[in-house]
Amino acid sequence: MTEQPPRPRVGVLAVQGAVREHLAAIRDVGAEPVEVRLPRDLVDLDALILPGGESTTMRRLIDAYGLREPILSLARTGMPMLGTCAGMILLADRLADREEPVFALLDLEVRRNGYGRQLDSFEADLHVPILGDEPLHGIFIRAPLVSDVGPRAEVLARDPDGVPVAVRQGRVLATAFHPELTPDRRLHRLLLEMIGSSARRRA
Ligand code: GLN
Repeated sequence: MTEQPPRPRVGVLAVQGAVREHLAAIRDVGAEPVEVRLPRDLVDLDALILPGGESTTMRRLIDAYGLREPILSLARTGMPMLGTCAGMILLADRLADREEPVFALLDLEVRRNGYGRQLDSFEADLHVPILGDEPLHGIFIRAPLVSDVGPRAEVLARDPDGVPVAVRQGRVLATAFHPELTPDRRLHRLLLEMIGSSARRRA
């Protein structure tokens, strides 16, 4: 009898925000979802998702639960991470309006709620070459606006006005939209593929 390889364990930061939909998406791609509230929940993860929500609340709870340093040290070991919407704000290394960055793992500047009131929420079909020809439907909810991308980050997709909405730097991915709110699982699958190429894969 051959033993099944262990399912990858993918954590979702679960202090606040759109957690449940990411847990379901992780299940859909055949991985094991893990809710992360405390540093001990980070043990034995293969990848981590920072969901959408309210980034100021998330920032406060990340520090209250002592999660900032342990998450940063996992990033240093090359653990694949995906930040969506508020998660992108947590990953950016520059925030407009002189706000302090949180994890500062992505060479970009974002402006919170930068699409403005008129465009509080909108949807757009996005061309994401790395995911193939089929457009990816993006749902944007009070999304961060990427105002600058530095040379270390790669733009994976732009909105219809040409503003970057998905970026990658090494094993860190971020989207201004909510991929967990549509049935398309290609971004979650891309995160799993990044585990395959990560040094940290468990034996
Ligand atoms: N506007 C939120 C913030 O600034 C992000 C919105 C979202 O994650 N859907 O934190």
